Amino acid sequence: MSVTEDRVVRGGGLRRGVLLVVIAAAIVFAGLTAAGALAGALALAGFAVVAMAALVVLRGGAASAGASPASAASERSADPLRVLVAALPDPVIALDREGRVLALNDPARALTPALRQGDPVSLALRAPELIETVNRAFARGEPQRTQYSERVPHDRWFETFAVPVKYAAGAGTPDVVLLTFRDLTPLRRVEEMRADFVANASHELRTPLAALSGFIETLQGSARDDAKARERFLGIMQEQARRMARLIDDLLSLSRIELNAHRRPDVPVDLVPIVRQVIDGLQTLARDRGVTVSVAAAPDAITVLGDRDELVRLFENLVENALKYGAAGKRVDIKIALETSAGGEPEAIASVRDFGPGIAPEHLPRLTERFYRVDVRESRAQGGTGLGLALVKHILNRHRGRLSIDSTLGAGATFTVHLPTDEARPSQ
Ligand code: ADP
Repeated sequence: MSVTEDRVVRGGGLRRGVLLVVIAAAIVFAGLTAAGALAGALALAGFAVVAMAALVVLRGGAASAGASPASAASERSADPLRVLVAALPDPVIALDREGRVLALNDPARALTPALRQGDPVSLALRAPELIETVNRAFARGEPQRTQYSERVPHDRWFETFAVPVKYAAGAGTPDVVLLTFRDLTPLRRVEEMRADFVANASHELRTPLAALSGFIETLQGSARDDAKARERFLGIMQEQARRMARLIDDLLSLSRIELNAHRRPDVPVDLVPIVRQVIDGLQTLARDRGVTVSVAAAPDAITVLGDRDELVRLFENLVENALKYGAAGKRVDIKIALETSAGGEPEAIASVRDFGPGIAPEHLPRLTERFYRVDVRESRAQGGTGLGLALVKHILNRHRGRLSIDSTLGAGATFTVHLPTDEARPSQ
């Protein structure tokens, strides 16, 4: 049954119903007058009121029955279509053949706040490619796909599908197009990050590689018989080769930790001996830089659920950074204690404080990004890869912990590790 036929049948049903009411009212008023319960004039006035109301109802019914097929489709389809569209999680807009909105769900409203039901979609979605896709879907009767991006309020990318449907019973051609939006923004961001990461890693490896190739050429050519130059160049080459090895080592650690990110370590480990072991291992560096390292630790064990090797790696990075970048302060203070988190949970904290030049506030939020360095030259001179704090962050994520950094330029920096303690483990 087509939309118009349906209206006509419903219009006929309405007329019959109203006629019945008018006849019933006539009988009641006539009966009341005959029984003497109502004066003739009063009964006539009562009947006139009922008849007029019936006329108004009939007019309204006739107007809606004769309405255009498009608006009729929108009215008729409003409820079931709206219920279905509202239930979908992605933004969905249902359109009629004139491009008018029959229904849209909350995610679609969030995407196009100006769009209302009954509006032409072109009012709010000013992307011509979208309108074309909808028209093509109606014309060809097949789903059409396109990409759509928004710049305001921030960059977002969508894959949109315009799917034609024969909604009205018996419709020969599609009378509704469902326009759906799939948010590609997170995927796009991951792709960008991956591309940046590969570019950065290649660049970091290419620099020492270029140095090695250069020295090999020099040793094969002009410096072939220069024993002193050979000795010096071999030293530099060894340092460059070590740098490449460190970088590859850090890259592999990072990908291993990322692979295990969803598996929280479940072995109870005491933080105090781990930190002490790290300090022992870095004694030579501390002596070379003229830095005294002191540790203040609670006498009792401070137990967290952790991966021992990863925690060693974490503290190595923090203490090494303090010794390298904060050497001018001549002192590094380490504190390990049990405290209470802002959420009231017991937490283990381990802070590494140096008294060096500190870090300007604009760098603090970016320090844990891969390859981010305040001063690239200084980092390279110190044998840094730019991955140390990224590793720290990933290890902490896996341990459900976090890193806080406090620093004042000229007054050193404090890197504090917060880890949930073994007692804070949710009972399962
Ligand atoms: P890197 O391998 O360069 O040391 P990190 O990720 O460990 O890489 O550190 C990133 C940058 O943060 C360093 O290059 C350095 O500029 C800065 N930084 C880290 N720790 C300190 C510190 N204790 N004092 C001053 N700057 C620091």
